[in-house]
Amino acid sequence: MVSRVVFGRGSFNQLDEILASKRKGRNAPFIFYVDDVFKGNHWLTSRIALSYKDKIIYVPTKEEPSTDQIDQLVEDIILEYSELPSGIIGIGGGIVMDIAKAVSLMLTNKGESKDYQGWDLIKHPAIYHVGIPTISGTGAEVSRTTILTGPIRKLGINSDFTPFDQVILDPELTKDVPKKQWFYTGMDCFVHCVESLNGTFLNAFSQSYGEKAFELCKEIFLEDNLSKEEAQNKLMMASWHGGMSIAYSQVGVAHAMSYGLGYLLGIKHGVGNCIVFDHLEEFYPEGVAIFKQMKAKHNIELPQGICADLEQDQFDKMIDVALSLEPLWENAIGKNWNTIITRQKLLELYKKM
Ligand code: NAD
Ligand code: ZN
Repeated sequence: MVSRVVFGRGSFNQLDEILASKRKGRNAPFIFYVDDVFKGNHWLTSRIALSYKDKIIYVPTKEEPSTDQIDQLVEDIILEYSELPSGIIGIGGGIVMDIAKAVSLMLTNKGESKDYQGWDLIKHPAIYHVGIPTISGTGAEVSRTTILTGPIRKLGINSDFTPFDQVILDPELTKDVPKKQWFYTGMDCFVHCVESLNGTFLNAFSQSYGEKAFELCKEIFLEDNLSKEEAQNKLMMASWHGGMSIAYSQVGVAHAMSYGLGYLLGIKHGVGNCIVFDHLEEFYPEGVAIFKQMKAKHNIELPQGICADLEQDQFDKMIDVALSLEPLWENAIGKNWNTIITRQKLLELYKKM
């Protein structure tokens, strides 16, 4: 679990104070990965105080992180500094937070990041790392994974060393998220809840977090009783609870299939989950019905026909990626999942998208 967390509008102002006690010396910098949407945004960046060799690195977020990118970022740090950093700070959405987690792990674990994709392969504790979400929904701020696209598949580095040492939850940082993106990333949280609550891995720990996040999502996306600020505050907590819910269970069908879309077509996590989830009535009837209400209420039109022109070998690749995520299927369907989830079944579903 995340060791320390602060919550509150304006809590981002405490960053400097929080980091001060973690500085290891002049030659051990803090490296700040910041979503490049904030480049030139004085309101945010003026609150990142740089000393000694500290550095801000702006990260483009058109594409989701790859193992090559992480290895490059780690090499850059090793070549530039004589000592390991005092800390790695990620300020942004799921992409930037995952980059911060992965870099902090790979600075202390030898070799290439692709070799750590999977479960519990990391051997050594990471560098001190801090997550500061600026958009809510993924749960990346609280989860024990960092999702990377590697040469063979899209899969997380899941380990007990992956969670942040410190998280700063300041809902005010999410105030300028564009509406569509707010919906897509928010729905990631909703889908986490549905997949966790309807999974065979469910237990009282996951259920208590999942139910809370599910209620918050309904309040935020279906009702009209919240001010903008309240909705931002609540979505940040929904994201946290949704992330906690899957930490002790698993995601399911939507994520498995969305990873296939992400791997082959570069479709991003949030929108990819929405595209898939829209067609999953047979697996999650109640969740999909609510999702469709939310979509209608916010006038969201999802991309259609994204698989229309694909060749058989492309479908095969997506199906390979989806099927390789066995724990997700086992959670969704049960131990005998592969009698129900055949290649043909997945092909039919992908063809609808
Ligand atoms: P993202 O990081 O892709 O960001 C989406 C967009 O929102 C970007 O264009 C970004 O610039 C913009 N944005 C972010 N904050 C903003 C702000 N305050 N104002 C204006 N624009 C802002 O989106 P995401 O949905 O948060 O993250 C998706 C990524 O998270 C994927 O790479 C996915 O694999 C990963 N993920 C990780 C976990 C985990 O547990 N580690 C869980 C789910 C998803
Ligand atoms: Zn997700």
